[in-house]
Amino acid sequence: ADQSLDLLSGRSRANSKSKSRSSSANGRLSADDFEFGDVLGEGSYSTVMHGTHSSTRQEYAIKVLDKGHLKRNNKLHTALAEKNTLVRLGSGHPGIVRLHWAFQDEWSLYFVLDLARNGELQSRISRMGSLSTACARYYAAQLVDALDYMHMRGVIHRDLKPENLLLDDDFRIKVTDFGTGKLIDVPPERATKTFVGTAQYVSPELLEANETSKSSDLWALGCVLYQMIAGRFAFQGLSEYLTWQKIKQLDYTFPDGFDPEAADLVRRLLVRDPLERLGAGPPEDQHSMEALRSHPFFASIRWGTLWDDPAPPLE
Ligand code: ATP
Repeated sequence: ADQSLDLLSGRSRANSKSKSRSSSANGRLSADDFEFGDVLGEGSYSTVMHGTHSSTRQEYAIKVLDKGHLKRNNKLHTALAEKNTLVRLGSGHPGIVRLHWAFQDEWSLYFVLDLARNGELQSRISRMGSLSTACARYYAAQLVDALDYMHMRGVIHRDLKPENLLLDDDFRIKVTDFGTGKLIDVPPERATKTFVGTAQYVSPELLEANETSKSSDLWALGCVLYQMIAGRFAFQGLSEYLTWQKIKQLDYTFPDGFDPEAADLVRRLLVRDPLERLGAGPPEDQHSMEALRSHPFFASIRWGTLWDDPAPPLE
């Protein structure tokens, strides 16, 4: 399996065997080893399909990326960055979508991922209007735990939002979409386009100094927590530009009835200075997230069994 994660060497192999439909020679996994089912979703450069491994009957989500489309749009590096990040995160955390294998054929790259059968947290929020405080607490805690894990491994997500928080069979979170270079590696004239759909979660330091750090993920955590409870974005203007103005001015208010401890946590995360956000610390501090875990909003969370305890009913 490790070998099949090496897409670049796989590519030369596939190219040199142009008659073969895939790079399955030499015992490597290929698309032929899976039965493809429904389309689970579409991204700008990908189609995600249900896949069953033919011999083990294990089910996965298979992200299929069209190589030609990626090359034409100069996005090959983004796909490879996503793969490399997933490889770095490995299989060590239940709250992060795991990459089981990556392989390719003449036309496509294939990422075989954990299947998150219950869709995006965003759809749940939209459907329910907002989440109960108990539910928001549970998902915020899972997000804190997953962020701690990825930050310890030097991975900054940079695009956290409820669309990128998938729900598995047990309605636990699986963080996805690690194609993160896309937010800061673009020329300024194209930046606006890249921010579409994500404007609401962008941190002030990205807007003002084009800088991101682990702490930018903490800003997004504050935005997500606000949104789960309020049922609307913390920052939303009539245009993207006006949304960004609101972010820079820290212009947001809590609706009536917003849980006071949750509000306190949001206030400590939506802080303009990245170093002052709760859970932020100097790079060498491996325990800065403890400050988040011990916030009163999380008092009832059992961190040791967070991934075994059942999710509160979605309401
Ligand atoms: P873009 O590339 O435009 O940012 P995206 O990141 O959402 O879009 P994908 O990661 O390809 O693109 O995902 C497309 C859709 O497929 C998602 O919206 C999600 O609903 C679904 N999906 C992605 N990964 C999984 C998974 N592991 N399990 C179940 N569904 C998934």
